[in-house]
Amino acid sequence: MEKELNAYKKYLERTGFAPAPVTTALIDMDGVLYNSMPNHSEAWKRLSKDMGWEYKENEFFLNEGMTGAAIIRQIVLRNTGVEHVSDEEAKRLYDIKAKYFNELPKVEPMKDTDKVLDVLRRNNVTRVLVTGSGQNSLLQRLDNDYPGMFLPNLRVTAYDVKKGKPDPEPYLMGLEKAGAEAASTIVIENAPLGAQAGHAANCFTVAVTTGPVPEEALYDHGADIVYPTMAAFAEALPTLIALRNEYK
Ligand code: CA
Repeated sequence: MEKELNAYKKYLERTGFAPAPVTTALIDMDGVLYNSMPNHSEAWKRLSKDMGWEYKENEFFLNEGMTGAAIIRQIVLRNTGVEHVSDEEAKRLYDIKAKYFNELPKVEPMKDTDKVLDVLRRNNVTRVLVTGSGQNSLLQRLDNDYPGMFLPNLRVTAYDVKKGKPDPEPYLMGLEKAGAEAASTIVIENAPLGAQAGHAANCFTVAVTTGPVPEEALYDHGADIVYPTMAAFAEALPTLIALRNEYK
């Protein structure tokens, strides 16, 4: 309770917003809804090997949230000094990465995220998907794995966003789709650049460490509060929602 209260106080200070109940949750996909990051990392590693690009351990965990095209442009620049990669070339390379992703063992839903979503639903909090991903093999599974949790018109994906995280654009788009004010939301993230995007959109940004990225990196990138597991977050969430509803 103390942790949640302090985080919310600091959030109100940094945004200058008046206290407001939670009406809307803006929810990231990779590393939040799905334990997909190890496979994404492996698929990027295979593409890098094909292309003769240097691969830095865990770099794709740190890049998480950027669009595929942005990641490709960054790696190409670093490895070859080439500054321009056409949209067509970026798409061709991303398709290879997506093919490798699809060849890997099936990604499982993130453990205990269903509990988080249940708490949100029970508290009438609207769920909005906000991902930079264009990985159709996951997007198409959402309705099966999380039935009724994400309405079709409340989804922001790589097909909507131009800039991608850490730009606030995806979260601002999520707010617009839901017709919600930043002051009434929470963002649920697992990645530093995602936390940065949620923070920049002035949303109360929750991050959960579901991979190798340490808690400090999430706080450093602007997370308002960090939980070690989805189970811990699910347990704290009713308190966080009640606190927001009653805060004066
Ligand atoms: Ca993520």
